[in-house]
This record gives sequence, structure tokens and C-alpha cells, in this order.
Amino acid sequence: PLQTNALEKQLELRKQFISNSLSLSYTAPIHMVRSAFQYMYDAKGNTILDAYNNIMLVGHCHPKVVQAAQRTFARLNTNTRYVYDELQSYSEKLLSKFPDSLNKVFFVNSGSAASDLAIRLAQTHTKKRKVMVMEHGYHGNTRLGIDISHYKYGQKGGPGKRDYILEASIPKIFGAGFGSEAEATKFYVEKTHKEIQNHELEISAFIAEPIIGCGGQVPLPKDYLKNIYPKIRAQGGVCISDEVQVGFGRLGKYFWGYEMYDVVPDIVIIGKPMGNGHPMGAVITTTEIAQSFENGLEFFSSFGGNPVSCAIGEAVLDVIHEEHLDTEAQNTGSYLKGRLKELGKQYPEISDVRGEGLFLGVEIMDEKFQPDTMFAQYLKNGLRMESILIGTDGPADNVLKIKPPLYFNKENCDMLLSQIEKLLQKK
Ligand code: PMP
Repeated sequence: PLQTNALEKQLELRKQFISNSLSLSYTAPIHMVRSAFQYMYDAKGNTILDAYNNIMLVGHCHPKVVQAAQRTFARLNTNTRYVYDELQSYSEKLLSKFPDSLNKVFFVNSGSAASDLAIRLAQTHTKKRKVMVMEHGYHGNTRLGIDISHYKYGQKGGPGKRDYILEASIPKIFGAGFGSEAEATKFYVEKTHKEIQNHELEISAFIAEPIIGCGGQVPLPKDYLKNIYPKIRAQGGVCISDEVQVGFGRLGKYFWGYEMYDVVPDIVIIGKPMGNGHPMGAVITTTEIAQSFENGLEFFSSFGGNPVSCAIGEAVLDVIHEEHLDTEAQNTGSYLKGRLKELGKQYPEISDVRGEGLFLGVEIMDEKFQPDTMFAQYLKNGLRMESILIGTDGPADNVLKIKPPLYFNKENCDMLLSQIEKLLQKK
């Protein structure tokens, strides 16, 4: 067995070395020692079902990914200023997942580095400065990342809105009192159009996640982007889709989130599941935008696109393909969503179930139809005591976030559902 210090000792050391600005999950923290596919194992030997970690897309420690890492790391690791097979091979495979117009890739090491670069690309290409961001959106931890993340700059302790930032109201349908999706779409599109008009010819980019994770797993109305993208482009800006959370087949039918809305962005940001836990990020864009960046100032990332990362990224794509994990996400996700909706008919606390594939949100409300933060936390902590991991998010932290490794199966869904139901009955 693995030798580890007791949890109390670990917590003490953590407190000594790590800033309190890094949070710890759960009132009863978990001391993790191993993981495999959709399971994690704590120091006490408990098996924990992971319904939360969307980074481990193809499963924790998937052997094919681990072997690709080990094999390549033992043979060659260098930077993109040399020629090596992995860069071309992975770029070709990755770009084959995008429409023809999106044909250039910049590799970095995180979603934050990718969103930072995406904004630089947009501003250089358009020679404009302003950026339109989505309310409650999150794109990264760099200075620029915080500037464009309402979820961060708008929070307590955040720096506030910068002068070059414009906000689009989150087009949330649930709870907003609209009669239909069409009515909601019209309202939000008109509101955002007005904001675009007020800054006509000044906006370099519009950036949004296809399903707004930190906003509480909020999908956009079907025709929202179809109405926003042309207006941004007409005044000379470009459109960015942040696929860091939802990309790589998690949404089942849609390999990328923008496909849900029948649009093609000018710039796409990817990260998290790209390396299944190995730190990877990338920006995918058009030839024209990439060319504008070839202005004499070199772009270089020490680690982005190195042979080990490329081999890992390629293994991730191969596993998704070979094991049909996007189809699995579709099937398991629609089963889980259906069952959660049924549960909602019995228990009014479950007020809305939304999302696609294995990226779901369950909004918890009280009898007065107000966000019930306490009850959402009770469910999250209650599930943790039953060794199931889920998250909560949203401005009121009352939305359960379910976004497991795609290995999560029907049996795992049943386990999750029965434990949620037990907690609902106990209330
Ligand atoms: N974009 C989105 C939508 C994210 O959820 C995140 C991370 N939570 C990022 C960007 C930043 O990625 P990273 O943490 O890898 O820098």
C-alpha cells in the first residue's frame, strides 16, 4: 500500500505552504491517492465515483494516454523550433475535427494562455481594442484572462470592469419569465445588438462559451449566436468560441459546442480535456487571422506543442474515436438528463435540468422559487459522504454541475440518481 501522511498532517503542511486563495473542495476534504477511468481512490481505500472532472475526458489514467506520455517523454522532448513528427501528425488530426476555414493552430499549455492569445490575435487582426464578453463567463487566470472574465472581475476582490470591456447579458431562459425560447432570444439579441451599435467599429472580438459553465451550465438559446456573430463581423470584429469546458465530444452529437448553434467561429480556444490532465491548450483560427499575426513579432511557447504533449493529445483523439466516447456521452447523457427530469417532477427542488451530453446542470430552487444555495451545498456534500463527486456553480452557487469522464456509464448514473433521491427524501 501507498505510504502517505495522515490527512491532518497533509492539511497542516498545505496550510503552511499554500495560499488560502487556493480553495479546497468540501468541508470534509478528500486525500486522493489514485484514479482510474471514472473512479478515484482516497487514502483510506474508498472508491469514489467522479461525476465532476471534465478534464479526464477519456478517463483518469487511461493506459493509452499514459503510455503515449511515457514512450515519448523517454525518447524526445523539445520545442516547436525543430521538426519532429508529432507536431505535424497531431495538428493534422486535430484540425480535421474543424471546418476548412479553421486551419491554423497555436499550441500553448493552458486554457488561460489560449484565451490570452486569442484576444491578442483578434486585436492584432482587427486593429480594434474593445472586447465583448459574456456575463458570468470565465476564460482564464492571466491578467487579460481576468479582464475578459466577468465571473472574476465582477466578483468580490475582483478588479472590476476595464474600459475596453463590453458585456452581453447572459441569455438565460430558465427563471427569466419568458413565454418561449423565441421571445427570450429576441430580447437578448436586441439588447446585445444595441450594445454593439453603441460601440460600432470599435469591437475586436466577441467571446463566449457555448454553455456557460461558471454561469451555472447555461446553454445559449439556439439562434442567439446566429444573430450575434454577423453583427460583430459587420462592424469589423471576430467571434471567439471558448470550448475549454465543452469540447472534444463531451456534448455527444456535437464535437464542439459551437456546432449546437449552426455557426462557425473565427477563433476557437481549447484546453482542459485536450491532454486528459496533461497541461495543454490551443488556439485554432483562420489563415487570415494567423497571417495578421505574422507581423515580425515571433510567437513562442516553451512547452506548447512539444512532442510529449502532441503524442498525448493524439492519443486522446484516438481513444475518443476508437472507443466511440462521444456516442457514449450522447447515450449516457440523454439517459441521465431524462432521469433527472423525472426526478424533478417528484421533487420541486430540482427546478431545471439542462445541458447536452455529459455536461449537465441541475438548478436547485426553494419553495419561493429563489436559488437555494444551501440545499445545493447539502446535496454536493451529501454525495461526497457517499463517495460521489459533483460540483456546484452559478452566481448563487445553486446549480449542480455534472461533467464526468466519458467512461461514466448507466450504472454510474443509477448510483448517482439513487443517492440524490435519498438526499432529497431526507430533507
Ligand atoms: N475557459 C474556460 C471556459 C474554463 O472553464 C477555463 C478553466 N476553468 C479556462 C478557460 C482556463 O483554463 P486553465 O485553467 O487551463 O487556464
